[in-house]
Amino acid sequence: MLKEVFLGVGLAVVAFLALVGYNVFPLLVLAALAGTILLLLNRNGVGLGGNARKMEYTGSANFTFDMIGGQNAAIQELKEALEFILEREKIKSLGIRPLKGILLTGPPGTGKTLLAKAAASFTDSVFLAVSGSEFIQMYAGVGAERVRTLFRTARERAQKLKKNSAIIFIDEIDILGGKRGSNISHHEYDQTLNQLLVEMDGMKSDGQVEILVVGATNRVDALDAALMRPGRFDRQVKVDLPDKDGRKSILLIHTRNKPLADEVDLEQIAHETFGFSGAHLESLTNEAAIFALREQCNRISQSHLREGIDKVIMGEKSDRKPSPSDLKRVAIHEAGHALVGELVNPNSVSTVTIRPRGKALGYVRHNPEDDTYLYTQTALENQIKVALAGALAEEIVLGDRSTGAAGDYGQTMNLVRHMISAGMSSLGVVELEQLPQEKLHDASTEILRELEERTRILLQEHLTAFQEIVKILEDKENITGDELRQCLNSLKAAS
Ligand code: ATP
Repeated sequence: MLKEVFLGVGLAVVAFLALVGYNVFPLLVLAALAGTILLLLNRNGVGLGGNARKMEYTGSANFTFDMIGGQNAAIQELKEALEFILEREKIKSLGIRPLKGILLTGPPGTGKTLLAKAAASFTDSVFLAVSGSEFIQMYAGVGAERVRTLFRTARERAQKLKKNSAIIFIDEIDILGGKRGSNISHHEYDQTLNQLLVEMDGMKSDGQVEILVVGATNRVDALDAALMRPGRFDRQVKVDLPDKDGRKSILLIHTRNKPLADEVDLEQIAHETFGFSGAHLESLTNEAAIFALREQCNRISQSHLREGIDKVIMGEKSDRKPSPSDLKRVAIHEAGHALVGELVNPNSVSTVTIRPRGKALGYVRHNPEDDTYLYTQTALENQIKVALAGALAEEIVLGDRSTGAAGDYGQTMNLVRHMISAGMSSLGVVELEQLPQEKLHDASTEILRELEERTRILLQEHLTAFQEIVKILEDKENITGDELRQCLNSLKAAS
């Protein structure tokens, strides 16, 4: 409104000057120049409220901790830290220094933003969320000004809403709080971080608005030591990938508003999604609902959820139409993976398909036995055998290998290196970084040759079953783990 009044008055003055014969051309050039500069500054959020415009603001966040699954330990720790805000009088009477910052650390999509939101509603605080990247601009001083605006806005909003506290959530805090001097345009980065430190140091428990900064990162190692000093980010809460029970509770949360068929077994879906974050699981349930819609079903079935898993892991089905000879090779390759997978680890195969999805022409999805955090030598060797089986199957049946196995080799080499670093090679216990390349190469080759040989023998011993799987795949393009096991059992019974 103020802007419009100024503009109107300015135009009137210029018109008047022009009427009385004054040369207004230089004035118009100056006004255009000033306008452009203001526009640029506003776009970059330097002006008052520039930063506030970008912030997510939920005055009375009604997002509660029970809407977050699989993070019980993190929630417990966070709630304990939040006692500082809830029990501020008691804290003050004991002379305890107020808590200024909490750092949430963990992989992307595990619920760090959700935890900060829930913390705001738990403590009846206003909530402002920004991302570290929003502070960094090419203009010197912009970041520091944004930090000042952020804290001022938090105080003002809390006062306006008559709240005693505000939670400022800074996602990707490593961008803004990385080690000083480590960036090319480090002056701007350093100024921004310095300003954040100044604001945090200036936060007082003076009966006015109490501010708590919640930072989130998955790169604690990259943070400047000054941020981690006592009195700044005093508490660190680890937000890890959920375990099986955690995944089930997240699936329950995200299917609350979705009609599920009676046969749906979320426990099984949780079992099949080892390594998924909360964000992956949310996406899985959403994709499953989309599949149900496409098939005009009123309810989401187990197979829709399973397809959701494939979509999240491999990407959307692609329109690529491989030639008949490529299709045959893909069927042979995937049958090799699936057969060896089932032989070395019974009941482990979940799906085998030769329908292209994402970048893959086909794939086998395995179920983990259970959430596994430790691997024995046998388990690692079995994984390598399964990875090598695709290319070996091509070699046995078609006489040569193809480029389709490139990804398998990458996975194989990682597993081999893992074995060597865990002291499972003929080198004994070694430090991988200190090992000469030649020795590493020799030890890797030795492991690979032996496992290749053992896998080849396994495939040759089960050639009939292998050919049967190839035939079914060529026919149906897709087999579930149960169908595969049925086929193997009936062949065993017949022999
Ligand atoms: P990033 O580090 O990438 O910013 P984040 O850890 O902050 O990720 P969120 O933004 O909190 O992750 O989560 C993204 C989405 O994933 C949420 O909106 C929610 O739908 C889902 N989600 C993630 N974790 C959980 C969880 N523990 N419980 C329920 N839903 C979750």
